[in-house]
Amino acid sequence: MTHACSCPCGTTNFTVEKTPVARFYCHCEICQKLYNKPYSDVTVVRTKHVKLDSKLVNFNKYRLPPALDRGTCKACGKPAAGFLKSLPGLGLAFITADNFNDKSTLPAPLGHVFYHRRQAEVPDDLPKINGYFSSELIICKWALPRLLKG
Ligand SMILES: [Zn+2]
Ligand SMILES: [Zn+2]
Repeated sequence: MTHACSCPCGTTNFTVEKTPVARFYCHCEICQKLYNKPYSDVTVVRTKHVKLDSKLVNFNKYRLPPALDRGTCKACGKPAAGFLKSLPGLGLAFITADNFNDKSTLPAPLGHVFYHRRQAEVPDDLPKINGYFSSELIICKWALPRLLKG
């Protein structure tokens, strides 16, 4: 199914042509800074399924973690979609669930990553992953089975 998405101000409209392969809460410092929240609610989709006019966004590269080209809306400066290009042939994009016009169509979050950076404890039953490499690894583990299904 095709998902209609936009940045918070509505200027950067784009679509995601397939349901995200994973969704999780990210407590990394970049998310905290970009979203101005203790953690972000992130979905993982294939880059080829994101139809975004690159003229609408500025790309800023943040080094760690993770190495993403973060596309932020030129009008409001908020993140539209981030693109991970370090995996050849497996282009992944990260889009906050808040940018989906209908969040109810998204899969449920699988857990919390970069939890060692947390600003507050989250009292839910989802797995909490501490450490940079463990967090990267679990994101791959969560996304991979559904990526392989196509
Ligand atoms: Zn905007
Ligand atoms: Zn993050």
